[in-house]
Amino acid sequence: MAHRLQMRLLTWDMKDTLIKLCRPVGEEYASKARAHGLVVEATALEQAFGQAYRVHSHNFPNYGQSCGLTSRQWWVDLILNTFHLAGVPDAQAIIPIADQLYNDYSSPSTWQVLEGAETTLKGCRKRGLRLAVISNFDRRLEDILVGLGLREHFDFVLTSEAAGCPKPDPRIFHKALQLACVEPAVAAHVGDSYPCDYQGARAVGMHSFLVVGSEPLDSSVRDSVPKEHILPSLSHLLPALDLLEASSPVS
Ligand SMILES: [Mg+2]
Repeated sequence: MAHRLQMRLLTWDMKDTLIKLCRPVGEEYASKARAHGLVVEATALEQAFGQAYRVHSHNFPNYGQSCGLTSRQWWVDLILNTFHLAGVPDAQAIIPIADQLYNDYSSPSTWQVLEGAETTLKGCRKRGLRLAVISNFDRRLEDILVGLGLREHFDFVLTSEAAGCPKPDPRIFHKALQLACVEPAVAAHVGDSYPCDYQGARAVGMHSFLVVGSEPLDSSVRDSVPKEHILPSLSHLLPALDLLEASSPVS
């Protein structure tokens, strides 16, 4: 009998694909600062964080690994830079706040599971698919997933910190395929970033799907991604996989 593609592995992005922050970074930072007697506007912190994050990630990529930083030190420095940009130059006053923020973001209570995540993951496993995580994240992810009750769905969790490089670097996808002992042609990646997830996975020969939110898609992305690869919600994944299996060339 003719044989069709049989997907074996699904890899998942985590942030804004299956989990998200309970509240915006600016609000969280402002609230922790207030608890330490320091009043800073949430909007100023939100804006400063965005700017500081871009510069810090550029200067010290993947949590500063190649510069000998620990990911914890990387985050503490980023938080200090954020408060500095938001108009609080006194680093000594920020250090206890930064320590607390680092610990708080390690806790599952700072994160929430996105709607449909559990059902979709269970549905995938029921079909015999193996699931794994490929995430640009630091070492805290594993414990966060345990705390949120999601860890049990995945064979392994591969973070960019553990892999030594972030998506879309092909090496992190190759590493995951190696860990799973699966060829790229029977693996698909699901994520919300066009360059890191959708394109990154395709560059190594995997299939991929792009999770989109309620925001309109950038026109260049809309023009480059076939409609059947776009997931308006997680509940669209299983039908999209069915379509992919059905439309794959008979070998
Ligand atoms: Mg993401």
